[in-house]
Amino acid sequence: MKSSGDLPLKFIADNMLGKLTRWLRILGQDVKYTAKFVDSELLKIADNEKRVLLTHDFMLYKRSITNGLDAYYFEGTLLSDCLSELVTRYHLPLVLDINNIRCSLCNNKLKSVKKAEIQKNLKENTIFYYNKFWKCPGCDQVYWFGSHWKQINKTLNQINFKNDEVYEK
Ligand SMILES: [Zn+2]
Repeated sequence: MKSSGDLPLKFIADNMLGKLTRWLRILGQDVKYTAKFVDSELLKIADNEKRVLLTHDFMLYKRSITNGLDAYYFEGTLLSDCLSELVTRYHLPLVLDINNIRCSLCNNKLKSVKKAEIQKNLKENTIFYYNKFWKCPGCDQVYWFGSHWKQINKTLNQINFKNDEVYEK
């Protein structure tokens, strides 16, 4: 069931999907998550905010569908499989787009920030090697395209490669 029309999709994830949530946010997806949401809250928020409920809990999935909500149930637990399934189901771009990244911690869209504004809080090496920085307007976390993001990119490329192989068969 699709309730969101042409609007960009928004998600809400159950409390077992913290890691997947962080990845989806980095991919620019709007994902609401706290470890504290109970099932009734998840259903209510999904309904009120027209969010797709992502879950590992089949009973919760069934309740969502019965209530007319859009939900996605993951059978597997491997992060790469979950990402891959979602990308196929909702046609999400599986690329790190520097202009469309959300804070992995709090879901706000990152804003570009001048080095001079944030360098007092950074390590010397980081200041030396990197010139582009982004900051979360929600929690003030600073981001740069360091080894962590490069690793993420590598993993995404591997998943893309795997998906291509599946499509070609
Ligand atoms: Zn943040």
